[in-house]
Amino acid sequence: MKRQKNKYAFFTIDVERLADTECVYNTKQPVSQTMMDGLDRYIDILDKHGIKATLFVLSETANEIKEKLKGYIKNGHKIALHGKRHVPPKMMDNEAFEMQIAQAKQDLEDTFGIPVVGYRAPCFSIDREKLAILENLGFRYDASRMEFSARHNSYMNMDGFEKIASEIYKKDNFYEFGISTQKVFGKNFPVSGGGYIRMANWSFIKSLLHKRFKKSDSYVFYTHPFELSREKRPFIKKLKFMDWYYLRAGVNSYPRKIELIIKKLKKQEYTFTTFEDVAK
Ligand SMILES: [Zn+2]
Repeated sequence: MKRQKNKYAFFTIDVERLADTECVYNTKQPVSQTMMDGLDRYIDILDKHGIKATLFVLSETANEIKEKLKGYIKNGHKIALHGKRHVPPKMMDNEAFEMQIAQAKQDLEDTFGIPVVGYRAPCFSIDREKLAILENLGFRYDASRMEFSARHNSYMNMDGFEKIASEIYKKDNFYEFGISTQKVFGKNFPVSGGGYIRMANWSFIKSLLHKRFKKSDSYVFYTHPFELSREKRPFIKKLKFMDWYYLRAGVNSYPRKIELIIKKLKKQEYTFTTFEDVAK
């Protein structure tokens, strides 16, 4: 009998405060709630299934919640970098990007006493020049590519890299782990989490995931603390209606959706792992 190819699933979270969420940040209104209880809730779900998460943290935020993060590292979850502050790299020149990332990497390594080898760009805003900077700074992987065009993100070409699995590319010892998408009416739709799964109708998502899990050999899930937070959403002046909706829609059913996704992955015999372990 032909041996089935290994299939890998990665569960990640971009650890940022509510104030860092782009639509909230753009209002320039002060928001004190961090909604970090959503991080704990996510870890609880993953712990229940024995899944190790990758936490992409902002170095400034990490410092504020370092005891919590140390506990998660102790339990086998991985820390990687999401930046110093939540600024999309494409809004920085290469010099500023390099300086901020080098400093943030060093800060995290000093705080947690472990090497920091992974990066995900705020708003998935990455390009080939910045990818080369990450590699030069000693990162082993980036997890920012999206085969889908949204506001800041780039559908970056991977010339010179070898495709080793669905949305996973490798060059020398450096890896690019892309966000999972699935074709709908000829167009790529992100099926990796965030608002795309939280706000969408479950039967629509379920059919996309069903196709995805059967045919692909990797799956990446990502979320943010606010999406799983039980805290009441604060009133934010100047928030557009669509953004108001984005912060609230589907939050009650999201934990249940995440569990259903995990169950589907298990049924399709996916191995739950971390980017760091694969890049090793
Ligand atoms: Zn982010």
